Formats: sequence, C-alpha cells, structure tokens
Amino acid sequence: MKKTLILLASAIIMAACCGNSASEGYVSSPVDYATTIVGTQSEGLFSTGNTYPATAMPWGMNFWTAQTGNNHDRWIYTYNGPTIRGFRQVHQPSPWIGDYGTFSIMPLKDYNIVDEERRASWYSHKSETTKPHYYQVYLADHDVNVEITPTERAAAMRFTFPDSETSGFVVDAFHDGSYVKFIPEHNAVVGYSTMNYGSVPENFKNWFVVKFDKPVEAYTVYDGAKTVKGQEVEADHAMLAVNFKTRRGDVVNVKAASSFISLEQAYRNLEEIGDRSFDQVCQAGKDRWNEVLGTIEVGGGNLDDYRTFYSCLYRSTLFPRKLYEIDAEGNPIHYSPYNGQVLPGYMYTDTGFWDTFRSLFPLLNFAYPSVNAEIQAALACIAKENDFLPEWSSPGHRGCMVGQNSASVVADAYLKDVNTADMELLYKTLEFGTENVHPEASSSGRLGHEWYNTLGYIPYDVDVNENVARTLEYAYNDWCILQIAKKLGRPAEEIEKWEKRSQNWKNVFDKSHNLMRGRNKDGKFQEPFSPYKWGDAYTEGNAWHYTWSVFHDVDGLIDEMGGEETFSRMLDSVFVVPPIYDDSYYNFRIHEITEMQVANMGNYAHGNQPAQHMLYLYDWAGQPWKAQQWIDRVRTELYRATPDGYCGDEDNGQTSAWYVFSALGFYPVCPGSDQYALGTPLFEKAVVHLENGKDVTISATGTESGPYIQNMKINGKTWNHNYVNYYDLLDGADISVTLGAEPNFERGTAVEDKPYSYSTSQK
Ligand code: CA
Repeated sequence: MKKTLILLASAIIMAACCGNSASEGYVSSPVDYATTIVGTQSEGLFSTGNTYPATAMPWGMNFWTAQTGNNHDRWIYTYNGPTIRGFRQVHQPSPWIGDYGTFSIMPLKDYNIVDEERRASWYSHKSETTKPHYYQVYLADHDVNVEITPTERAAAMRFTFPDSETSGFVVDAFHDGSYVKFIPEHNAVVGYSTMNYGSVPENFKNWFVVKFDKPVEAYTVYDGAKTVKGQEVEADHAMLAVNFKTRRGDVVNVKAASSFISLEQAYRNLEEIGDRSFDQVCQAGKDRWNEVLGTIEVGGGNLDDYRTFYSCLYRSTLFPRKLYEIDAEGNPIHYSPYNGQVLPGYMYTDTGFWDTFRSLFPLLNFAYPSVNAEIQAALACIAKENDFLPEWSSPGHRGCMVGQNSASVVADAYLKDVNTADMELLYKTLEFGTENVHPEASSSGRLGHEWYNTLGYIPYDVDVNENVARTLEYAYNDWCILQIAKKLGRPAEEIEKWEKRSQNWKNVFDKSHNLMRGRNKDGKFQEPFSPYKWGDAYTEGNAWHYTWSVFHDVDGLIDEMGGEETFSRMLDSVFVVPPIYDDSYYNFRIHEITEMQVANMGNYAHGNQPAQHMLYLYDWAGQPWKAQQWIDRVRTELYRATPDGYCGDEDNGQTSAWYVFSALGFYPVCPGSDQYALGTPLFEKAVVHLENGKDVTISATGTESGPYIQNMKINGKTWNHNYVNYYDLLDGADISVTLGAEPNFERGTAVEDKPYSYSTSQK
C-alpha cells in the first residue's frame, strides 16, 4: 500500500512536470508523445528497429536501459525478452556494432544471488514506463519497483523495496577486464569496465561510481562466480554486491555516473545530479526533452501520428552521443578513442555516416545547428588526433559500410555556415582520405582508391567488394569535397579534379539495362548480371536500390537513362517488380531482404538506407505527385510508435529523421546543396523554431482528403517548384499547402521546378 502511495505521489509529480507552454493549436509537452520502446521487438533475422529503450538526455554521453539479454548478447533489451537481469549504462549504437564500457546495477531481494541468470526477474510491459527522461519497471521476482532518470553523464535511480533482511544491489562491471571497490566513506561502489568490441586504445576504461543513500551493512566482492576477500578486485569479470535490511516500501536512492577519463572525473560527473532529488532530476530531464522536441511543434493531426513523430524526433536527437566531459574549470575535455590521450575540446561518437549523412545530419543543420557545430569541432579534434575522419565511429574507427560520407557531413555543415572553423584542416583530412585507407578500419578513407583515382571506378573483378556502391558514393563524396574546395577558394587544378571525379558515377551506369552494374578492369560490364542480386557489387542492396545513388546529379542520371519518361518508368518499376531476391553473395537471407519482402512494395526497401531518398526523385521527373503518393504510403504503413514500429534497422537517427523531414513535407536528397526536395506535409500545422529566432511554419489544408499538393505558397506567393531553399527557410518562412485526393498534374512539371542537379547547374 505504501508503495502504491509513493508511486501515486511520483506519478502526480511526473504529471506536474510539464512546464512548457506550447503555441496555440500545437500539442503541448511533446515528450509525453515520445516512447523509447519503438523498434525493440527485433532479432538478428528480422529488424523492426534493432533499438533498446534508451533512457537518456539528448545526445547524452551515457544512456541507460533495462537488460533482458545476457551479458554477451548484443540484443540488450528485446520486447519479447521475459526477464530483466540488470539496469545498464549503455553506449551501443546498434547490435551489429556492440557496446563498450558498460556496467549494470540490479536490485536484489537476496544480495547473495548475483549470477545473471539467477538474479533475472520477470516483469510485464503493463507495469513498465518507457519515456526518454524516465524509465520505470516493477521487478516481480524481487518485488522491487525501479525508476531511472538521466542526466548527460549520470543517472538518478529510485528503488522501492520489500521486506527483506537480505535486500541489496549487485554492481556488475562486465567481462573482458573490470574492477570494483567498495568505498565506505562514500557509501559507494567504484570501478571500471573495459568491455568493448574493438576500436579502443590499450588504456581504455570507463570509470564509474555508484552511490547509495542507505547505509550499506555488508558487501561481497566477486571475481566471476567466486567471492574474494577484501574490498576490491580486478578481474576478468568483477562484481560487488551490497546489502541492507529493508521494510516494505523503503526507498533507496542511487546515483551513478561514469567517466572515460578518470575516477576523479566520474565523481565530477556525478555532480550533474548534486543534491537534487530524483523528482527534480526527472523534471529537469523532462524540461530539456520538451525544449529539444519542442523545436518542432506539430498540430492538427491524430494521436498516432503525434506519437510516431515525437518518437522519431527523440531517436533523431540521441546520436551521435557526446564523448566529451567537463573539467574542473568548466571546459570540454575528452578521452580520445583515436590516440588514448586526454585532450581539450569536444568529442562525439556512435554514428555511421553511411547511414546518417542522408537526413540525420541535415536535420541537425536545420533544427539543431549548435549541436552540429560541436560535432564538427569534434571532427576537427579527430583530424588532429589521427590521419583519418571516421566513417563509422564507436567509439573510434570501426570497419563498417562503405563510402567517404564524412565528406557529406562536413560539406553540409560548411555550406550552410553551421561550421566554418578548421576548414583547411578538415579539407586536407578529407583529401588525404581520398588517397589512403585506414590500416585497421577499412571503411575510413577510401578502400579501392588506387582503382577509383586512376580508372574512375572500382572494377568488379578486383579484390575490393561492393565496388559499384563504393564508386557511386565516392563520386557523390567528390562532389561534396568540390563544394568545400570552391568555398575555400582552392586552386583551379584541385577544383577540376573534384569536378571530374564527381562524374565517375557514369562509369558504372549500364545503358543496356538502365541500371548501375559492376564493371570489369577491361571496361566490360560484369557477367552474369542480376538486378535482384544483393551485396556483391552493392552494399546491402541490389541494382534496383543503388541505381539512384546519384544524389548530386539526378538530372545527369535522367540524361543517361534517355529522359524523364524512362527515368520515371524505372522508378515505377522498383515498386512493380516482385520482391524476389538473390542472396548468394551472403549465403543467407540477410534481414534487410526480409524487411523488403514483408513491406509489400515490390523491390522498394525503405528499411535500409540506400533507397530512402528514392521516392523524392520523382520531383526531378515532372511527376511530383508520385513522390507525394509514395511518401504518404510509407509514412502511414512503415512507421508506428509501437515495439515493431520501424521497417528495418533504425540506424542512429537516420530512418527516424526521414520521417521527421517527410512529415514536414521536404527532404534533403543532396546534402551539401542548399535545397530540400518537396514531399507532402502530414500535419495541418507544423512550426520549426530555428536557433536564429526565426520560425518556419508549414500549414496544410485538406490533409484528410489526400496527400496530393494542389497548390503551394511561400510567404503568400505561389510556389510551383519541387524544392524549398535552405536560405529562404533560414529567413523564416510561411509555407501553406492545399492538399487533395487527386494529383494536380500541372504543378511542378516545368524544367525550372526541378531541384538541384550538378550537370544542370553547369549549363
Ligand atoms: Ca541499415
């Protein structure tokens, strides 16, 4: 009963947390619409997001999650996992990449039972709360209610215990080398975890401190399953259990923090909580999330769409995460995963640019430019700490995916004036990457650069896999470097080099099929050829998916295909051809293939990144209504705020940022350009509060009737183009759109209505 009262009291406090005032007609307290559970009903062979319920601050250094899988399972929390064995500080961006520096805390009815299988408890999603700033679950087997609320590098936790002489906690510092120690004068457990899946220097440690507000009466130190004497142990798998007696309803508050720098810094990071109560920390977390999510307000929609929108915006504002800490003087410092030193300045990590260059980084540049300015400063730090920019960082260089899409991430920020610092250094580092490949992480720099830089493509019959995908992305990346070089005023011969290379996509275009196709050293296209074959010349996709990866020159691609009619027919065909596949390159059906099949959209594979901009390409072909139709269908059918809510790996904000842009009504097909291709707005009203104080307002009438744009006005003037300009939006803009059930076949069909293309811009 007492617990019920306590829970009720905290529920009232939680409800009273909502302090922000929404603009009229927009939803208030957007965080109340966001849930962290989306995408958790996933497994290796079928992903509906491959996420875990990350309780965290926006871009926070440490996330927290309940753990249903075992300590070695990279599926940390799955919706169908029946038991919870710990509450874990987590940094994992994706199960395919794995976690690092993790440790967990588990409340126990009997502190003598610490084995992760035996301590696991049944729970129900009906007695679980999954908000960005607040996680709660009732652990049935321990009769303990758990509440967690985060700060950027720490967390406050509140546990409500039953009657037990043996109540307590175990702090599990994980396998592969860890340390624990009990500090009586602080009533705290300290230690470190070194657990990782690679790309950390020798001296890597995540130092932690876990402090209890109830005096510890006894404790036990574990080296794996064995108990050891004394107050500390350094072991492969160190754990420490603490004990105190509790009466039913007793509340124990725990504060936990960590540091990649030192134990001293971990204590400093614990000061993010200071003397604040759990409810005060929770309120501050809620306010901060409402500030970040409230940057984009929406109204005039239905509850399901609000939930989907704000759950997607939450995912779009988590990664990349801060890897920097604040020193005693208040300055940013970081442990560098690139050289193992502690250095001044910013650091961010846990993102794969192959995914996130597409729309996540453009969303940051649009709505959260001060955050991306820090990320760009972090990239400059990385450029000083080693020779390469990362393509997949977690925490350092990981070998994963293809392309040199750091070029896009740097270019989009520079061209939009989000970052203008250290540009010579960033340019030189990108240039170095075009002629080198990282010795350990082959996705940093450019694998196959020797071929690409001489032949203009990476041949199919050489020892570089996924050669068409690499060629296409390098060509776009060269266009990105070209934009930087032009703005920097680099010498003409450099400009010419990037111009020429940005056209290299043509070298893998096969006119006989109108598809991108592997090409041998001798110039002949690969044989045999199947447009349904995944992998091989492509990355996690086939020719139907990769043919559209000419982000910077869609008009050029239209010309190669022989005109808009053929181009549109090829786009149509992606949805018309059956969802057949050839998985012989992998020797098994990778989950992305299954996710394509079950969507019932032919060979359109929205669950993976290569296809995600494709729907918008109708804007270049004089048929924008087809973009509007398909965007509406994908938004409706493939996104939900449910445990199976994504249609494939969410991938660190990218798949979510697609939805955020696509709900607003436009999308950055070509990051590095100043245009967004036009889609169709979802809500009757949306407003983006830009950091410069200006507002971009998008109002739509007829959202109930259909997705087709009948007419559109910007600041009162008729707008027939299939794009909006970044700088126009930056000045503040009123966009009004009338939607209808049937396409307007007149609007957006003129040549001048097409969005940016490199070849057209040269004419
Ligand atoms: Ca993916």
